[in-house]
Amino acid sequence: MTVETSHAIAELRRHLDRARASGARIGFVPTMGALHRGHVRLVEEAKRVSDVVVVSIFVNPTQFGPGEDFARYPRTLPDDLSRCEAAGVNLVFAPEALEMYPQGDDTRVRVGKLAEPLCGPHRPGHFEGVATVVAKLFAIVGPCTAVFGRKDYQQLRVVERMATDLRLPVTVVGVPTVREPDGLALSSRNAYLAPEERSRAVAIPRALAAAHASFAAGERKASALLALVHGHVDPVATSIDYVALVDPVTLEPRGESRDLDSPTLLALALRIGVTRLIDNTVLGLDEPPAPGFREVGT
Ligand code: AMP
Repeated sequence: MTVETSHAIAELRRHLDRARASGARIGFVPTMGALHRGHVRLVEEAKRVSDVVVVSIFVNPTQFGPGEDFARYPRTLPDDLSRCEAAGVNLVFAPEALEMYPQGDDTRVRVGKLAEPLCGPHRPGHFEGVATVVAKLFAIVGPCTAVFGRKDYQQLRVVERMATDLRLPVTVVGVPTVREPDGLALSSRNAYLAPEERSRAVAIPRALAAAHASFAAGERKASALLALVHGHVDPVATSIDYVALVDPVTLEPRGESRDLDSPTLLALALRIGVTRLIDNTVLGLDEPPAPGFREVGT
């Protein structure tokens, strides 16, 4: 038995209508495929809160900018289907671009303030593309609980706000980031890293862990925490888009001292070689990302 896979919207809707008619609650996990344990964790959460779980696999062209990695993004559908089956997914929706954008994409969801900071300036149009495709997927799947990773923290906030603003019948849930044993966040893009780049990438969770340790020891100066993070990542990064301390709800920048008394999102985006990696943690709330890590000298 292979997992039930629909390429057409009408077919997926038939399955979901049938499930709802029998009283099932729908859980939905949108992905771009190249599935890993992070995605599986989202499926587990969806299974916990619903009866029938649908995973979508769609590399959405409208969220990639010119010169980004749309063409070479890993596409591994047969492996993804096996993973879905092993994870107990009930339905997979794997449309072609023409099924999602039959007449191009004249209509877009405009995203507001939450899309402006962090990745916003570095990936113009990205969150509009994300919000548009997720709105379409929510319209296709219908009432459900949709599960997203906090790895893509800004995306999660944008999608939550979009679902609220558009009054969509979807409950959005966020799941903590799944990491490798050394702390690196799982990502489909990690497959791009050469072995030497992969070893450099461990500086990212170490930087976040060092910021946690410093925050736990009482450091409340944004400049000191940012300097600490830069001390770890600057030597290994090919380029840095941002390292930022922001309000975890509004994503507005956090300043010095008093601001940092409440939980604060530390988020970063950088390139190692040509691979763009993002990560984040909420100081004062999340577990440190690299549990065994100790800052030298502490
Ligand atoms: P993607 O396929 O990369 O677009 O991601 C699909 C979903 O999986 C998004 O909600 C991501 O935030 C989530 N995700 C990706 N990596 C991880 C991870 N390491 N831990 C938890 N969720 C993740």
